[in-house]
Amino acid sequence: MERNHWLDGRHALITGGGTGIGASAATHLHAAGAKVSLLGRRAEPLEFMAKIVSGKAVQCDVTDPASIGEAFAAAREANGPINVLIVNAGVADSAPFARTGRDTWDHVIATNLTSAFDCVQAALPDLLAGEDSRIVFVASVAGLRGAAYAAPYVASKHGMIGLMRSLALEYAKSSMTVNAVCPGYVDTAMTIESAARIATVTGRSEGEARDILAKMNPNGRLVHPDTIGTQILTLCLPQSRDITGAAIAIDGGATA
Ligand code: NDP
Repeated sequence: MERNHWLDGRHALITGGGTGIGASAATHLHAAGAKVSLLGRRAEPLEFMAKIVSGKAVQCDVTDPASIGEAFAAAREANGPINVLIVNAGVADSAPFARTGRDTWDHVIATNLTSAFDCVQAALPDLLAGEDSRIVFVASVAGLRGAAYAAPYVASKHGMIGLMRSLALEYAKSSMTVNAVCPGYVDTAMTIESAARIATVTGRSEGEARDILAKMNPNGRLVHPDTIGTQILTLCLPQSRDITGAAIAIDGGATA
């Protein structure tokens, strides 16, 4: 990818940065000059991506506030104060509501929503001390409308959009912006896992299940992760300083 200098010297911390949308965001932010810290539970994908983007891989479980504290400290030690926070780590689950246990609810809300609160709290002093800081939440179209068989996921992403809008207003007079990207079905491991679940339940092949998910996007295809990575980069550029409180749908028309 061709490099430019819009974000030279800026420190971008990305949760779930080793795979999928987070890895694409890392690639784009690095290409614009940012120093990147990649957080996640598994060392292998983090180390792999860190080599590609000359970044810092930090193991972290975002459901554990102590782990967030340690990981953010390690990231700061490597790359300095945090200027850009990409809140991307997440899990999906699908099941009829009547068969959704409290354990599933707790796990999805902890990973997708409570961790967003904890990550913003951990980065906020740096973000407010710096100039032109950015928070980008990776939400979902599931944050903008309901979906059957995914109540905890939909609730977590609606909560994330609410958090984003509140922070955008609360800090509107600062130079920090707060936005969300809201993808439809994206071609990543999460969608492959969803297709595998559908295949198990329906007896269809995983390929057929993947086609069903692709057709949930009205344009009939899965979103490429780089479409999301590019949009995240755009929100982080100095030229985007007047965009705050936006929930940007990238979904092939699903919310048109
Ligand atoms: P991936 O499964 O590739 O990415 C999920 C990332 O989250 C992984 O890197 C994973 O790393 C990390 N993660 C999960 N749980 C934790 C945890 N407890 N602590 C730290 N990291 C964690 O899929 P995507 O790239 O698609 O997902 C990224 C985001 O995009 C998610 O928030 C998802 O909800 C959202 N999204 C995805 C869509 C899709 O269709 N794929 C559509 C709309 C939104 P590790 O397992 O190593 O911890």
